[in-house]
Formats: sequence, structure tokens, C-alpha cells
Amino acid sequence: MKLHILGCHAATPSMKGNPTSQVLEIRDHIFLIDCGEGTQVQLRKHKVKFSRINHIFISHLHGDHFFGLPGLISTFQLLGREKELHIYGPEGIKEVILLLLRVGNSWTGYQLVFHELKETIPEMIFEDEKVKVSTIPLKHRVYTNGFLYEEKKKERGLNMEAVAKYKIDKAYFKNIKKGKDGLSASGEKVVNLDLTFDPPAPKSYAYCSDTAYDESKIDFIAGADLLYHEATFLSTEASLAQKTGHSTASEAARIARKAGVKKLILGHFSTRYKDKDLFLKEAIIQFPDTEMAEDGKVFEI
Ligand SMILES: [Zn+2]
Ligand SMILES: [Zn+2]
Repeated sequence: MKLHILGCHAATPSMKGNPTSQVLEIRDHIFLIDCGEGTQVQLRKHKVKFSRINHIFISHLHGDHFFGLPGLISTFQLLGREKELHIYGPEGIKEVILLLLRVGNSWTGYQLVFHELKETIPEMIFEDEKVKVSTIPLKHRVYTNGFLYEEKKKERGLNMEAVAKYKIDKAYFKNIKKGKDGLSASGEKVVNLDLTFDPPAPKSYAYCSDTAYDESKIDFIAGADLLYHEATFLSTEASLAQKTGHSTASEAARIARKAGVKKLILGHFSTRYKDKDLFLKEAIIQFPDTEMAEDGKVFEI
């Protein structure tokens, strides 16, 4: 799994930073998470193929998280896209996008499939044989969801040396990878553990932005391999964070610690702070395995 930070700054786009957007490479998927202004340019800059984006997840309808979406939809049309595009986001997102397309008489030639969200409890919104995605209801000024991306367990790895040794016919490989025992050329049963390796542990990524400090999500993100949590403010602005439905770096780290995640990335920084190191200094007191998001930075999970 690989996470590309395209933008990780709060509120307005600036010369120094882009509003929120990320690309998650998970198994064969390229998922776009939030789509602030400038996302298209960032996608180009970081060489993400537009044609591989089939699913876009929007956390909430504040402009710094979705104002890039109408432009991206329009560009897909200009590029001659034919494949359907799935958009997951709060109820109302369909109305907003369709209004823009209607007033400009610029309907897409490809199908837009909206998955409007309104639940206030976690729900699974995407699943295939390799991956599943669920919502993480967040506490913000408007209806907001984070997202939990989970890999499913891979098949067992085939031990080619053992398979050759027992002269196992290729016809059994599929079932052996699923955990079944094999049959040697002489008709003897060979137990699965002698023929396979354990698959790598499935990984998970939790995205939580924007949100106030809220412990109700802890159970749901517990043990995640990576947590991206917003840290708009420093503790000196704790009351402002509370008032605006945002978190401080220290609060983000406290959530990471209580949830027992493996690693934390801080993002959604207010542009009021010149020295970004202060976020990290504040967070590592609570949770040492913290890193700062940065536009263009890539994290391997
Ligand atoms: Zn925001
Ligand atoms: Zn917001």
C-alpha cells in the first residue's frame, strides 16, 4: 500500500501548500481521497494516471476538500473518459455536481455513480475480493466521514521447491494457495504447511479529516497500520480547535496512542503557523511514531 499526499493544508490554496487531497494505492486500486482545489495539477505533477482513478471518496462538503472535484470530472470528459466514475460523499454531493453540469450544459459522456452517505455509524461502502472500505463518522461542523481502507488477507504463497519435491500437479495449485492439502505424484497427502508460506499480513489505513477530538472513533481505527489525523492547530489554540470542530497536534497524537495504531501522520495544518516543527514536537510527546504530512510526500504502508 502506498499513500501519496497531494495536499495537506487547511482552508485556502496558497503558494506554500495545497488543500486536502491524497491518492491511496491499494492492491490494484488507485483511490482518490478528498479533492481540494489544485488536485488535478498535483495529480499531473506526481504522475498519477487519470484513467486509473475510478473511485473518489469525499469526507465532507467544505470547499478545501471537494472544490477540485467539478474540475476533475470535467477534465475526465475532455480526455474522452468512457469508464464510470464512483463518487462517495455526503448526501447533497450529487445535487451540487449535477447543478454545475446542468447550468454549463456540460454533461459527461461517461456515467457518474454517486454513493451518497448519511449514516452516523460506520458502514462498509466498497468491497471486492482484495479490499474493503468503511466510513469513520467524524465530529465536525458539517456531516463528515473519515475512511478506513483495509486489505483482505492474501492467498498463501506457494513454496515452489516443496511443490517440485513432492511432484504436485499444477491443477492443485489454486486450492493449495487457498489452504487445502496437496496430493503427491505417488498419491500421498501432503499437508498444506509443507507446501506454502504465510502470506504477508493485510494492511490498513485510516483517514480522519476534518474532525474535533473525539474518542468514539477509537475502537473503529484500533490497530490500523497508518492513521492520518488532522492537526489544524497547536495546543495554544485548543479552544479555537474546539470551536471550529478541529484538533490540535496533541489531540491527534492522543487518538493515535489510545487507538494503538502503528504510525501517525499529521496534516490539515493551518497556515497561521510558520514553524511546522512545532506540530511534531507537540505530538511526539504523546505518540513518538509520528510524521508530518507534506505535499508530494509518499508513505509506504
Ligand atoms: Zn478542511
Ligand atoms: Zn472542514
